[in-house]
Amino acid sequence: MRGERQPRRWDHSSILSWLREENEERLVELWEVADTKRQKCVGNEIHLRGLIEISNSCRRSCLYCGIRAPRTDLPRYRMSASEILACVDEAHSRGYGTVVLQSGEDPGITADWLAGLIQSIKRKTPLAVTLSLGERSYEELARWREAGADRYLLRFETSDQSLYAAIHPGPQGAPSHPEDRLAILAQLRELGYEVGSGVLIGIPGQSYASLANDVLLFHELDLDMVGVGPYIAHPDTPLGQGLGAVPRIDDQVPGTELMTHKVLALTRLACPEANIPATTALATVGADRGQLLGLGRGANVVMPCLTPQQYHGHYEIYPGKAEATSGEEWHHSLLAHLHTMGRPPGRGQGPRSHTAQPVS
Ligand code: SAH
Repeated sequence: MRGERQPRRWDHSSILSWLREENEERLVELWEVADTKRQKCVGNEIHLRGLIEISNSCRRSCLYCGIRAPRTDLPRYRMSASEILACVDEAHSRGYGTVVLQSGEDPGITADWLAGLIQSIKRKTPLAVTLSLGERSYEELARWREAGADRYLLRFETSDQSLYAAIHPGPQGAPSHPEDRLAILAQLRELGYEVGSGVLIGIPGQSYASLANDVLLFHELDLDMVGVGPYIAHPDTPLGQGLGAVPRIDDQVPGTELMTHKVLALTRLACPEANIPATTALATVGADRGQLLGLGRGANVVMPCLTPQQYHGHYEIYPGKAEATSGEEWHHSLLAHLHTMGRPPGRGQGPRSHTAQPVS
């Protein structure tokens, strides 16, 4: 296993001690090691991925998520192909190299319809297409790959079995396991997708030890993309209301900006070549400053949101998200910040780097 080549300082106990570290001077060491690794393995470019939230319809009941099926008060939408293509044009004209089509787990997004849309995007632009549509069948994933989709994002959310079962019920309340999502990640790999996964940070019931396991699993899965972000309580969800049979633990991880930065840095060390976004959830808890700091602590990707105004507010997976990373003005201020940081926007599709040396 690749893990055996890891030096001792990146084993479970050292990850754990970094996660628990509160001394700012000592943490500077972690930031510097991660930033140096980032520069060496993926360079200075920041890849911009245009996020289009194509539907907020969802058949699942994840206890943490604001667009879960049981929420009857939330207006549901599914964008039309022409609305999505207009957003794709906007991504292209802003110079982004990738569009990310994200949604709830929406059976109304059919295999044929989406395959046609992917083909249209590929015909009219040179953009990479990333999908993030939840747990879909092998046949659907194969059809979309054939149509030209390049990448797929599916977070395993937590590697802790009992926590996963508590927060992520299967269809019709059936039990579910992290292995369900891990099996799909293996299928995606087999189909030739670039594979992305990740976790929530600070979900109720998440211990420091289980978060350290998550980082080790990123390495074991040899992920091409890793998205990590703080859990943000949504008042209209069971977890946001303090409900749900989550395990009671003494060492609860906080869903803070600082904890997210620690996980970003450790993720860079676990997966040196991966594309790692400074996520919208990080921008929500830490504002622009927290997100930009993340780019100096391991991250190399930003995902500006292109969802049209009339839908964006309804893709409310957590509160406060709407304002975080969208709009023309925010786009221009991002470019100005990147310029000041000496981190140019990436050119082209920005696939996973394969220039890195093995972890040493
Ligand atoms: N339906 C797709 C996309 C979900 S949204 C899927 O399940 O993969 C993308 C990510 O948002 C999820 O993977 C989850 O990690 C994150 N998310 C959901 N609810 C959240 C919350 N309350 N706080 C922070 N992140 C959340």
